[in-house]
Amino acid sequence: MSGAVLILSGPSGAGKSTIIRQAADRIEPYYFSISSTTRDPREGERDGVEYHFLTREAFEAGIEAGDFLEYAEVHGNYYGTSLAPVHKALAEGKLVIFDIDVQGHRLARNLMGDRITSAFITPPSLAELERRLRNRSTDADDVIDQRLHNAKEEIQAIHEFDYVIINDQIDTATEAFVALANTARLKPGRTERAQLVKNWLGSPLG
Ligand code: ADP
Ligand code: 5GP
Repeated sequence: MSGAVLILSGPSGAGKSTIIRQAADRIEPYYFSISSTTRDPREGERDGVEYHFLTREAFEAGIEAGDFLEYAEVHGNYYGTSLAPVHKALAEGKLVIFDIDVQGHRLARNLMGDRITSAFITPPSLAELERRLRNRSTDADDVIDQRLHNAKEEIQAIHEFDYVIINDQIDTATEAFVALANTARLKPGRTERAQLVKNWLGSPLG
């Protein structure tokens, strides 16, 4: 059977990367969609691992060429999901995981809503988010301020998601995520359901 899609959104600093990293060996087979972005790499980030880091020109050429399943401008930079590897992973029956913003979630829903499970991940409060972003020490103060400003908008979109994970204790949040990954696999798309019915009925009797 073809794969399923699990979308994670939530403010930058919510703990999405940490949770996926902690759960990784318990949710196989999966494919984490590596987005493209025009933002600068943070210390320790490698091209082709966390993101494909592109210039604005290269990103816009990708938009023109129809390379992206969805893209959005977040915090003044482009972020987008490449179409080809997602299709390949789905055809291989993998769970495809997206870490995208709330705009990307809306776009993906319109395109493949029948097979999407989505979760909004957030720390327990804005104050805790700020503490984590400052502790992470990967962003300048003005970048953190912008992320906090955006987070106040993003939290309003919480109603659009199937599930919510409050990332208070990391181990509890990771457990919830593993459960969600297993649940998402139980959501075949429309085409797969139609095929299942056809196979289930088999050849007409007699
Ligand atoms: P995101 O991928 O959503 O931007 P990260 O995974 O980078 O967020 O997490 C942001 C920061 O918060 C990191 O420094 C991470 O170690 C820390 N963090 C994640 N989860 C927790 C938690 N439950 N309690 C305390 N700190 C956390
Ligand atoms: P960061 O710069 O912290 O890695 O990511 C900033 C925001 O961009 C996060 O909310 C993240 O979910 C979002 N993001 C990352 N990749 C994509 C993508 O491919 N598409 C969209 N729409 N948002 C993305």
